[in-house]
Amino acid sequence: MNLKMPLVDLKAQHLELKSEIDAAIRDVVDSQQFIMGPQVAEFEQDLAAYAQVPYAFGCASGTDALQLALMALGVGPGDEVITSPFTFAATVEVIALLGATPVYTDIDLASYNIRVDQVAGLITPRTKAIIPVHLYGQPADMDELLEIGKRHEIPIVEDGAQALGAYYRDEKVCGLGTIGCTSFFPAKNLGAYGDAGGVFTRDEALADRLAKIRAHGSDKRYWHELLGVNSRIDTLQAAILQVKLPHLDRWNQHRQQVAAWYNEQLNPAWVTTPVCGVDRTHIYQQYTIRVEQRDALQQYLTKNGIPSAVHYPTPLYLQPVFRDAQWDSRCPNSEKASNTVLSLPMHPYLTREQVQLVVDTIHGFFEQD
Ligand SMILES: *Cc1c(COP(=O)(O)O)cnc(C)c1O
Repeated sequence: MNLKMPLVDLKAQHLELKSEIDAAIRDVVDSQQFIMGPQVAEFEQDLAAYAQVPYAFGCASGTDALQLALMALGVGPGDEVITSPFTFAATVEVIALLGATPVYTDIDLASYNIRVDQVAGLITPRTKAIIPVHLYGQPADMDELLEIGKRHEIPIVEDGAQALGAYYRDEKVCGLGTIGCTSFFPAKNLGAYGDAGGVFTRDEALADRLAKIRAHGSDKRYWHELLGVNSRIDTLQAAILQVKLPHLDRWNQHRQQVAAWYNEQLNPAWVTTPVCGVDRTHIYQQYTIRVEQRDALQQYLTKNGIPSAVHYPTPLYLQPVFRDAQWDSRCPNSEKASNTVLSLPMHPYLTREQVQLVVDTIHGFFEQD
């Protein structure tokens, strides 16, 4: 039996839509409108409708989406931004790039999302934004955060790079906060064929700023109103994403099915499986378990042909570039998660048999002890 098992199966997804995607690419190449061709505005309309917000803009990456959001909110030197240290580096990179200081809350070990109960205590007169990360595809505790944001007049920027399509109560991620950000990195739930990202807002004035900042602060040729960057989404990526977007919910549902298979089969005495809050949905950008013997289990899986990954092995305040002794051991849950999390194969083409093989191999590791 040849169960070739990738961690993420991008080839299967390409084959599913190959003829439509090839045609979309050909149209753009034939038109030669690589920058802001008509597919960009069309995709942005589709994206806004999908996220149930009035304004959505494509941009060059998820990282840029976060930077555009902070720029649109005027975050700069001397400001503080509260976020999680247990996330991909981009979340904190953009804060530092703008000269602001990241201030960390620990995470909740059940959801891996920020501990909202710590946020209010970290607010100072310099706090200019709070960035919850909807980690692995599960929304953070948004009602509580929005309430804190309202009380202190601090905008909430959602890092929805891993969670596009997830619901919090009756609303979709990226439309909950002041600005929502997502990523179309190829391995994300909605992946482009290169780098791309999106920003979302309900606020007309912010929408105007976001649209300009991503294009050199300008919406009229050679007239620059704001300090901007070059972060347009490629027409090619917009055209490809236009083809893929209508399939996102179905792909996310299959990921939920895969997660349910894992949850049913994995022995809870040996591994901690993900927990999803009852008032939200999880779209499993990652299916991540926690085990004390993580490194040994990962080696065993590799030896047995099962890929896995650690998201993320180091809290950001311990990374050389962001090292900040002030936060050492103040985020014990983040440190514990960094040492014990393991992401298993997860994509919309995994079969029940493949999931069973992963589970049997994990159980085989524990049975040998
Ligand atoms: C992927 C990711 C980003 C960055 O997105 P890119 O498109 O790779 O720039 C930011 N935050 C989180 C949580 C991510 O997973």
